[in-house]
Amino acid sequence: MDPINENYNIENLKIPFSDIEIFSKNLGINIGCSGEIFTGGMFIETEMNLHPDTMLLLEFELPNTGYFRTFCKVIDTDQTESESMVQGIEVEFIILSEVDRSRLYQFIESSCVSHHKSKKLLNSDDLSLANFLESNNNDIFDKAYELEGFLKDMDIKGYLPYFRTIVSGCKNRIIILDHVSGKEKEMIMMGSNSYLGLTTHPKVVRAATEALKEYGVGSGAASVLAGNYDIHKKLESKIANMVGCEDAFLFLSGYNANLGTIQALVRKNDLALVDRLAHASILDGCVFSSGNFRTFKHSNIDHLKSILEINHKNYRGKLILVDGVYSMEGDIVPLPEILNIAKAYDSKVMVDDAHGMGVIGENGKGTVNHYKMQGQVDLVMGTLGKSYGCLGGFVASNQAVIDYLRYYGRPAFFSTSIPPAITASALASIEVVEEEPEIVQNLWRNINYMKENLSKLGYNIGNSQSAIIPIIIGNDLKMRKMSSILHKYGIYINAIPFPAVPKGTERFRMSIMSNHTKEDLDKTLNVFEDLGKKFNVLNSGLFSAA
Ligand code: PMP
Repeated sequence: MDPINENYNIENLKIPFSDIEIFSKNLGINIGCSGEIFTGGMFIETEMNLHPDTMLLLEFELPNTGYFRTFCKVIDTDQTESESMVQGIEVEFIILSEVDRSRLYQFIESSCVSHHKSKKLLNSDDLSLANFLESNNNDIFDKAYELEGFLKDMDIKGYLPYFRTIVSGCKNRIIILDHVSGKEKEMIMMGSNSYLGLTTHPKVVRAATEALKEYGVGSGAASVLAGNYDIHKKLESKIANMVGCEDAFLFLSGYNANLGTIQALVRKNDLALVDRLAHASILDGCVFSSGNFRTFKHSNIDHLKSILEINHKNYRGKLILVDGVYSMEGDIVPLPEILNIAKAYDSKVMVDDAHGMGVIGENGKGTVNHYKMQGQVDLVMGTLGKSYGCLGGFVASNQAVIDYLRYYGRPAFFSTSIPPAITASALASIEVVEEEPEIVQNLWRNINYMKENLSKLGYNIGNSQSAIIPIIIGNDLKMRKMSSILHKYGIYINAIPFPAVPKGTERFRMSIMSNHTKEDLDKTLNVFEDLGKKFNVLNSGLFSAA
C-alpha cells in the first residue's frame, strides 16, 4: 500500500519554516529568515528593500538536511499585502544542482508528512490510542497528524467503530448514517448507557418541552450567580431524597461532579485512595486536586488496608473513592467491607454510582440502596446522562458538605448551570421510574436473558452484575475484525481496546436496555454465535481482568 496519499502534489506544497537564517553571499549579510519554503523558491521575512529581478546568491541550512547554496531572483517584494501581512520578499531558485533539488524535495516531503496534515497511513494493526499520547517531534500538533494516519488506516480496513453518526433518537433500534456506504442504516443499539430507555419516554420529553416554553433554552449563568432556578432546587431535593442524603448539588455532568467534588475536598495534606478500575473522572479529579492519591487493586480490601496502614499517619483527611458499578466490568463494589475499612482508618467514602443508579437497588435506587446502607456513605455521586437519559451530574451528602461544594466545586462555580429544560426532564425521569417500576423489571429480564445466553454460547462475560455485560475477546485485532462484522450485521456495540482495558482483555461492552425486545436480543445473540465460532473465541478459558 502506498503510504502517501495520491492527491498530494509536492509542487504545490509550501512548508512554513520561519526560523532559518538566510545569508546572502553576494551582499555579505544575513538578509532575514525564511517564511515558507517550496520546491521552486521561498519567502524571506526581511525589512530590506530589494527590487524585483535582483539576483542573490543565498546560503541556508535546513534541519536534518544540510547546507544549500543557490542563485535566486527576487520576484515579489510587496508581501505586506498578502494574507500573512509579514514584510518580506519572494525569491525563485534559479540555479539549484540536481543533488540539491532532490534533497530539497526530500525535505519538503518529510516535513509535509510530519508537519502538514499527515498524508501518511500508519499500519494500525499493532498500534493503539496509547501510542499517540506523545510524539518525538517538536510541533505539538505532530501527534495529531500521526494519529490521523492511524485512524485513516483503521477506517480503510473497516475497523473504526467510533464516532458513528446517529440520525435518530436513542432507542433500542437506531438509524445511523453509515460512513462506508453513505446511506442510512438501521441498527440494534447495544452500546447505550440509556439503560431505562428514558431518552425518548413521552413524559420525559413532555417535561422538557413544557420547561422549554416556560424558561427558554439556557440558564444564563453559573448557579452561584444568576443561574440557580427553582427547577434545579426541585431536582436536587428529589435526588437527595432518592439516595438518602440531606442535600445534593448539580454539576454539568458526572465527569464534572467527580472533578469538582474531589478537587474541593482532597487538599494538600489529604489522601485519596482510588480503586484501580474507578472511572477516569475520579483519577482526573485526584490529579486536579492539590492533594495526594494512591490506587488499590480492584475491589481488593486487603490491598486497600495495607495502603492505609502504611500511609494513614502521614496525612490528615482521607477519602476512599469507588464506583458503585464498574464501567468496564459491570461488577458491584463490596461496599460493606469498604465502609468497615473506612471506619477503622477514619476515612470518608465516596461512591460513583453512574452505572448503578436506575439499575440496581430497590426500583433502581442504586448501589447504596442495594446494600441497604442509606445514610452510611459520605458522598454519593451520580449522572443524569445514563439511566435517566438526560444530562448532568450530582453529588449528595450532608448539608454542610453540599453547601461547601456549591462554593468550592470549581467546574460548577465557574460554569453555566444545566439548562432548565434538561433539568425538568431529569426530574421527570426520576418520577417515571418511581411510577413505572416495570421499566426496571424489564431491564433485569433482558439482562438475565442476555447473560444466560451469552454464557451458554461460551463467551467469557466476566463477573457482570449489572446492565453492562463485558464480552471478553482478549485480542485486539480479532476484536477489530469482529467489530466491523457486527457493524455490517446491524449490531451497534462498543469495542473497548487497550488502553481503556488491560492488554489481553480487549472486549465488547454490551449495554442492555429496558426497551430491547426479545427480537433485538435474539438477533444479537445469533450474530454473536456465528462470530464466536468463526473467530474461535468461545470457551477460550480467558478470565476477566477484574
Ligand atoms: N463515572 C462513571 C463510572 C462513568 O462511567 C461516567 C461516564 N462514562 C462518568 C462518571 C461521567 O458521567 P457523565 O457522562 O455524566 O459525565
